Amino acid sequence: MSDTPYPYDAPASQALFDRACAVTPGGVNSPVRAFRAVGGTPRFMVSGKGAYLTDADGREYVDLVCSWGPMILGHAHPEVIAAVQEAVARGTSFGTPGEGEVALAEEIVARVEPVEEVRLVSSGTEATMSAIRLARGFTGRSKVIKFAGCYHGHVDALLASAGSGVATFALPDTPGVTGAQAGDTIVLPYNDLEAVQEAFHRHPGEIACVITEASPGNMGVVPPDPGFNQGLRDACRKNGALYISDEVMTGFRTSRAGWYGIDGVKPDLMTFGKVMGGGFPAAAFGGRADVMAHLAPAGPVYQAGTLSGNPVATAAGLAQLRLLDGAAYEKVDAVSAQIQGLVTEALNKEGVAHRLQSASNMFSVFFTDRQVRNYEDAKRQESFRFTAFFHSLLSNGVYLPPSSFESWFVSTAHDERAIQKIADALPAAARAAAEATA
Ligand code: PLP
Repeated sequence: MSDTPYPYDAPASQALFDRACAVTPGGVNSPVRAFRAVGGTPRFMVSGKGAYLTDADGREYVDLVCSWGPMILGHAHPEVIAAVQEAVARGTSFGTPGEGEVALAEEIVARVEPVEEVRLVSSGTEATMSAIRLARGFTGRSKVIKFAGCYHGHVDALLASAGSGVATFALPDTPGVTGAQAGDTIVLPYNDLEAVQEAFHRHPGEIACVITEASPGNMGVVPPDPGFNQGLRDACRKNGALYISDEVMTGFRTSRAGWYGIDGVKPDLMTFGKVMGGGFPAAAFGGRADVMAHLAPAGPVYQAGTLSGNPVATAAGLAQLRLLDGAAYEKVDAVSAQIQGLVTEALNKEGVAHRLQSASNMFSVFFTDRQVRNYEDAKRQESFRFTAFFHSLLSNGVYLPPSSFESWFVSTAHDERAIQKIADALPAAARAAAEATA
């Protein structure tokens, strides 16, 4: 049974969760799915179609998580499903090169100008881990600068002061990461160029790279101040370090060329995942050809993967990217703006102090009256209001990320019915947020 104050109203999900908890730590295969930050029973989903998810109890939700970003065309898009079925029928993995991975790499290179060469992997974590290794191998240096509240997957060296689940659960530095693994990581406050310059000054010739989320979405949505990314690139250039832009979340979502398509700041290396896999495990890192040439088998920096460039995953990713034209991005942006407007209106009506922050079509709500520019600001929000807001929306069929430290995601499939369902659910949720107590 659920041991939370929230209504025990999802018996089939609860039964599955009980089974899961007996065989899997915490009952989930990725911590943020567990509802620990908001309490209650995580909903076990059985199907998705367009903007909607259906849970094990047969209840339908408007999905504002979109699998944490990938499902930008909505669930079970017929053309993506057809591409997958065609690929599956030809076999699921060959362990040899294949045309699908070439086509996907060509699509990425064509869309994102700084990417001259790209290597496919299976998760965003692998992409950032490999990019860091390559940066260290290329520069012969060991230190890495990252920013508090940015999440780059569960790479040992990058878990320090990370966002996403690490932020949601306020985890201290993770046990299992040794001092040696974390010792070369310099964690700085986000949006603070002076701190970056000072770190370069303190460690001359030691810093291999700066890695940053192109526009962070893992402490909630906290866009870079104007000039911040350019300042990072300039500092890297001046000091012989590589500038790595992590576009696992923003890539192919915030525009055709991701966040690069918006700010135009040219990284040395970039990482991708989520949207480019069409709902399958596909990710990538790429960038300057002279840097990528250091990667095995062309060069000495080793990196590999049994399922890298998997034919089913690449077919899904390619089908999704090819459907993402100008009109698709216009649609996602318009849906996002509409929902942002509804949320603001509902919270204002109830007098709830909040900041709705957005980066292109990604957005999130902080329950605070102050602008959020970094992780310290994000932690000052009144998360108890989010909990009440979340549960009210959930019980009225709207599925938000179960944490106030995550971006919300929408898709081309969010139709008028979905938006109306959100509009209908928001007044009660705003009231619940207003009435919540710590
Ligand atoms: N980088 C960023 C910016 C992310 O948002 C994530 C996941 O949310 C990752 C890396 C890790 O990707 P994955 O979960 O596919 O390992």
